[in-house]
Amino acid sequence: MEYLIASRRGRPGDDPIFALNAEAKRRKAAGEDVVNATIGALLDDDGKLMVMPAVAEALASVEPEVMAAYAPIPGRPDYRKAVIDDLLGAHGLADQSVSVATPGGSGALRMAIEDFLDRGQTLLTSSYFWGPYRTLCDEAGCNLDTFNMLDETGRFDSDDLDRKLGEIIEAQGRALVIINTPCHNPTGYSLDVDEWAATNAVLTKHAKRAPVVLLLDVAYAYYAFEALGVAIEASKAILDDVLVLYAWSASKSFAQYGLRTGALIATTPNDEQRLAIGNAMTFSCRGLWSNCNAGGQAAIAKVLTEPDLHARVTKDRQALIDMLARRVDRWNELASKANIPYPRYQGGFFTTVFRDDAQTVAAKLRELGIFVVPTAGAVRVAMCSVSEAQIERVVNGLAQVL
Ligand code: PLP
Repeated sequence: MEYLIASRRGRPGDDPIFALNAEAKRRKAAGEDVVNATIGALLDDDGKLMVMPAVAEALASVEPEVMAAYAPIPGRPDYRKAVIDDLLGAHGLADQSVSVATPGGSGALRMAIEDFLDRGQTLLTSSYFWGPYRTLCDEAGCNLDTFNMLDETGRFDSDDLDRKLGEIIEAQGRALVIINTPCHNPTGYSLDVDEWAATNAVLTKHAKRAPVVLLLDVAYAYYAFEALGVAIEASKAILDDVLVLYAWSASKSFAQYGLRTGALIATTPNDEQRLAIGNAMTFSCRGLWSNCNAGGQAAIAKVLTEPDLHARVTKDRQALIDMLARRVDRWNELASKANIPYPRYQGGFFTTVFRDDAQTVAAKLRELGIFVVPTAGAVRVAMCSVSEAQIERVVNGLAQVL
């Protein structure tokens, strides 16, 4: 008797990244000196998860009745407004935006796929991408296709975006494109002003013949403030032609991965469309997860809006950013000296090393006690989870196996 429907049969029960992490932990517990560069969370140089004290304080201050109650279906109004103001207020886009609370950035991505693609249609993203994009598409009955992310000069390949977007629109008459910047996972790449200008030209060209939705995945927003501003200003320039969504997350920005607090924001100058989109997103909240963590929304709304708390959170976060920046500098110094092939890397949780045989490279590194994540065409090195001192060992290991 087959109980599972055909598309669900034979599915792996463990997430590949979590499985690698588990193996690294097992070997470490058995006494081996292991470098675990698989984890997508910020650890201090002693391997302990970093927490922002002012955020923990805000969470502890949420009244038990607020914590225990259902949040409104689309999220708490103060939270939904605070998230929009935080991300888009300084760019003059708050009045043109609507948001709903989601379980992390993952929930925002899932909802975007649900509301802006029909079943069987194809999402477009860059050739290097965060693996769960494919899982989210699969789960929603959609497909994922990619455009080449970096050209032969190492810059964002908007020509290939043009080609692939043309194909997708030809095939299905609409497109949802995810661009993850700043601090793209897995490469660490952030698009610059010129790359955005070229990307905008492509998006607006195709938007003349079919609906084009651009989703900016800003999960790492706070780790590259300047590049974030560049991305939002760029998205502002295309709002008359393209619907822009932002997948916002408190996971990395507030070091609260388990809080599952995020938001999907839609920005359009068209009032009627914004209303209809907000309604559809609210409906999807009910249909996908009913409502999200009430205490998380209350606490994050507080840290975004109460000036004293906000200042302390910003200071807490700066310590995290500074620590990461030291690791990025160390990596850039050593990896460039060792001629390791990797893209422009100015900050963020990850970098990648280009290699077609990524599985083999990762397996050889594991033999040396170094755990990285193999992806299509590259291995991902989580700079967020290795200490500054361990970077030399990672670079030496790579130099040995490449
Ligand atoms: N987008 C990217 C690129 C990510 O790396 C992550 C988390 O690792 C997310 C979105 C979503 O994270 P969360 O669901 O924890 O907010």
